[in-house]
Amino acid sequence: MTRAPASPTRHGEARLERVVLASGNAGKLREFDALLRPLGVSLVAQSTLGIEPAEEPHPTFLENALEKARHASRRSGLPAMADDSGICVPALGGRPGVHSARFAALDGQGEGDAANNAWLIESLRSLPGVPDPCPPAGLADAYYYCVLVLVRAHDDPQPIVADASWHGRVVPEARGDGGFGYDPYFLVPDTGCTAAELSAAQKNALSHRGHAAAALLAKLRDAGLT
Ligand code: IMP
Repeated sequence: MTRAPASPTRHGEARLERVVLASGNAGKLREFDALLRPLGVSLVAQSTLGIEPAEEPHPTFLENALEKARHASRRSGLPAMADDSGICVPALGGRPGVHSARFAALDGQGEGDAANNAWLIESLRSLPGVPDPCPPAGLADAYYYCVLVLVRAHDDPQPIVADASWHGRVVPEARGDGGFGYDPYFLVPDTGCTAAELSAAQKNALSHRGHAAAALLAKLRDAGLT
C-alpha cells in the first residue's frame, strides 16, 4: 500500500494532494472536485480505484461517514473524504434520517426516489391532525443534514469533520426537475421554490452539502492541509 506523496506545510503536516472520495456518485465527485481543485487537491472516486462501497451499518450519519472514509483510505493508502446525508422529519420521529436512501424499501414500499417520496408523503398524510387539503405552507417541517469527514489515513486519530443542516417544509406535490432525491418535495423558505426548482448554483449556496463543504474547506486551511 503506498502513501500519498507528502509536501510539508507550515504545520509540518503532509499537504493534501490526492484524496479518494468514498462515493461512486458522479454528481458528488463533480461538486467536491470543483471545490478542492483550486486548492491543489485532486479527488479520485473510489470506484475508479476498484474499491467497493463500505457498509453503512450505524445509527448516526457521523459514524457512517467515518466508516466510509476509513474504508476508502484503508483500501487505497490515500487520504479519503466521505459524506453522509439525509432528510429528517421531526413529525416522523426524525425519519427517514440515516435511512433516507432506502426509506421506502425498508418498509417494503419499493425502491428508489419516487418510492421514497411517495412513502414520505403517505406517512405524513396518515399522521393524526394533518389537515386535508394540505395548507400552502406544506405538510411538515423537515431538514436535510450532511456530515463530511476527511481522514489522512485509515487510523487517523484526528479526523476532520464538518456538518450542516438545511431547514424547510415538505410539500405534498412534486415541483421542479433539478436536484435529486427528496428535492421536488422540499420547500425552501423565503424562495417559494422547492429545492428541485433551484439552479445547481443556488442549491449549493443554500444546501446542507454546500455549507458543510465550505466548513470543511475552512478547517483544512486552518489545519494547514491545503
Ligand atoms: P447519501 O449521502 O449518498 O447516503 O444519500 C442519502 C440519501 O439522502 C439520498 O439518497 C437522498 O435520498 C437523500 N438526500 C441527501 N441529500 C439530498 C439532497 O440534497 N437532495 C435530496 N435528497 C437528498
